[in-house]
Amino acid sequence: MKYWLASPILLLFFLSFMTQRTVAQETATRIVVQPGDSWAALAVRFQVPEATLHSLNPHMNPMRQPAIGTELTLPETAVPQTGTFLRPWGTLLETAVSHNVSPWSIALRNGVSNPHRPALYQPIFIPAADVTPRELPTGFATLEVSQLVGVPGQAIGLRGVLEVVSAGVVTAVLGDNEMDVFSNERYLVGLTGTGAFFGTQQPELSIQVGDAPPWRQPWQFRDPTSWEYQQLTLTGTAAQIDQESIAEERARLFEIWEQNSGPAQWQAAFQLPINSFLEISSTFGARRSYNSGPYRTYHEGVDFAAYGGTPVLAPAGGTVVVAEVLYVRGGAVIIDHGLGIYSGFYHMSSIAVAPGDVVTPGQIVGEVGTTGLSTGNHLHWDLLVDAIWIDAQAWLDQGMDCWILDGLKRPCE
Ligand SMILES: [Zn+2]
Repeated sequence: MKYWLASPILLLFFLSFMTQRTVAQETATRIVVQPGDSWAALAVRFQVPEATLHSLNPHMNPMRQPAIGTELTLPETAVPQTGTFLRPWGTLLETAVSHNVSPWSIALRNGVSNPHRPALYQPIFIPAADVTPRELPTGFATLEVSQLVGVPGQAIGLRGVLEVVSAGVVTAVLGDNEMDVFSNERYLVGLTGTGAFFGTQQPELSIQVGDAPPWRQPWQFRDPTSWEYQQLTLTGTAAQIDQESIAEERARLFEIWEQNSGPAQWQAAFQLPINSFLEISSTFGARRSYNSGPYRTYHEGVDFAAYGGTPVLAPAGGTVVVAEVLYVRGGAVIIDHGLGIYSGFYHMSSIAVAPGDVVTPGQIVGEVGTTGLSTGNHLHWDLLVDAIWIDAQAWLDQGMDCWILDGLKRPCE
């Protein structure tokens, strides 16, 4: 009996020991790059020369910082250190005073003989428990992104905490697209979207605080697992769509969508704008070919096939900015949710709100129909972030709504 009991326990102990060993080895040799994992900061954190990191990662360009979301190999001997990574602007003495540590201990740890000597941009490491040394933009105490690997057609967010309330104006640029930046005292959120054709690039994320030199790091993007492909055939009157009216409607709506709409007007996670539907008849990003032409355009929203007259609901709180019948979109309502986020509901047979109305989540804004350029009863729901169409289904799945409010230290139910 004794042996019978003892052996499985021993075996379990041995197994758990083996598992822990394997996990520890894996995490010590490969990491996923986070914002602020510059070559210099990684070298300090793992006590490895930068040259060793370059030679272990020949697939990465040593002239650029490691891209956020990519995997990086470390030597098996790498030992992570905790502490603060700094590129000082004054002398080491000034840095020590501002961080409340002894200048001599920094000098010793960083191999500097005289703490009064100007630091000349040489990185400094200040040991401290529970802090991961990262090279963050000047004035940032923390910085994180909504997804380490970006996916085209989705909302992209960054959030951080500033060291002081008035650190200066913060600008954030992804590739050549300036993000919408919002702050609540020290808490800051940057938002944008990427188009569904964005692809597997490594755009550069650039953040600048006041007059400080910009901080830069590339960011890995990947294609989603699959896009839908749709071949549409237009005949008769549908083939003679008034292209000028389409362009005019689009231009007018973009004037609205490009406005930075002020504080967040939602306090809870977004919900579907329709409770009862037959199926999702077209997903966001579905590539579209017209009359056997190339797949040059994509579907800019989500289509819910539903019976005519089904109520259409506000997915979250906001203010109605459009409520009228449009040429392409038919019976249309657009809600401004704040922070540059707009949702639109199109092809409706009736409209139940007026511009300026403040709506609550679940409030009826209209009824499903087939008005405008539409071939059957359905609701087209679109969602724009920073004047870029994004996948509303992914937005719901990711919980971006609460992620953003958390970043601004506002409650989200
Ligand atoms: Zn549609």
